[in-house]
Amino acid sequence: MMEKLKELAMNPAHEILFREKTAKTTGKYFWAANIFVLLFQIYNILYTLFYTDFQLKSQASRVYMVLYGAMLLICILTAVCGWILTAGRKGKSVKLLHLYTAFGCLLLIWSACITLYDQRVSSNISVYMTTAVYIAGLLYIRPRISVPVFIFCEAILLAGILQLDLAPSRDIYGFCVNSVGLTLVALFISLYRWASLRKDFLNHLEMEEKNEMITRQSERLNYLANHDPLTGLWNRNYLSEWTDRFFSENSRRQIAVFVIDIDHFKEYNDTFGHVEGDECLKKVAGVLQELEGIHFRYGGEEFLCLLEITDETQAKHLADRLCSQIEQQKIPSSKPGQYLTVSAGYAVGTMKNDLEFRRLLHGADDALYWAKSNGRNQTARCAPR
Ligand code: GH3
Ligand code: MG
Ligand code: MG
Repeated sequence: MMEKLKELAMNPAHEILFREKTAKTTGKYFWAANIFVLLFQIYNILYTLFYTDFQLKSQASRVYMVLYGAMLLICILTAVCGWILTAGRKGKSVKLLHLYTAFGCLLLIWSACITLYDQRVSSNISVYMTTAVYIAGLLYIRPRISVPVFIFCEAILLAGILQLDLAPSRDIYGFCVNSVGLTLVALFISLYRWASLRKDFLNHLEMEEKNEMITRQSERLNYLANHDPLTGLWNRNYLSEWTDRFFSENSRRQIAVFVIDIDHFKEYNDTFGHVEGDECLKKVAGVLQELEGIHFRYGGEEFLCLLEITDETQAKHLADRLCSQIEQQKIPSSKPGQYLTVSAGYAVGTMKNDLEFRRLLHGADDALYWAKSNGRNQTARCAPR
């Protein structure tokens, strides 16, 4: 039992969320009941007044008037409070829930009183029964309130029936058994609703958390599938995805394919070690990301850049900036007093299929080879074929 109760415990943040949600759902039942009970009291009051010719001479009529008036007042007061709290800003859900609970408990106590008073003339307990079932089945009331309130109402009924001066033929024993049975059933329903609302909410939270975890994991997997883990640039996997999409769009646009390679990187590694070498790759990748085009880590210290262009000067512009931007980072190279540089080769053309892409790539590679052989730290263009 204690284990089950522990399972229903929530941390403060979840408790607030739960109450906000429950206040919303319970609110509908509160307003429906409040308006119904309010109108019913107006009807009762008018009926009693007409019935007694506005005299209220009998004690019973005065007692009923007090009971009807009290309930009318409760309805009006809780409706006004409810309206103020609902119209107010967020964060009132706890107070709203308290208000609904208070309304439910007062309505239950009232129904016990009026049912008891009715016993003088009839053995009907339908008012108490309807109210108890409504409160137990539709409102969210914590056990520490519902248990004492239901017991208190039952005590009113039992103690009251024994005090009333009833005809000897009246079945008092039957009334006691019925009311105790009804109270126990209502209390059970109320506790069950309390527990199931909390359980549903916790299950819902658990599912949401799992969904979030799955979404995060799939985003991470997606990222890993398409990115180089060291530099964060796109990887070759994404390159084929990108080119496939480009081919399928049947684009007539020109594209510039750049192959970029770090100069003397082997020496860099030999001088500074592989860990520094990795840092250097990250720095170069960071600079490339700032430049136009889409950048991929193509191999060890080789990068690929694809740039859609409308005129060739755009490719020329990037070619001019590539080497200078890296050199401006002033990353010390293996040669004292010199900075790290890159060489690049590029080719321009249209590509409608993988074959044409490979041709451009080949051209860019040839140009890179030329740039390397002719002094490095420069970008060469493959002659149009
Ligand atoms: P060149 O100017 O002709 O390009 O000379 P290079 O030394 O840069 O070219 P080479 O192909 O001889 O050497 C490339 C080096 O890049 C060799 C390899 O150790 C290094 N490398 C490749 N991938 C990584 C990596 O992920 N991290 C580090 N630190 N080094 C890498
Ligand atoms: Mg290389
Ligand atoms: Mg190299």
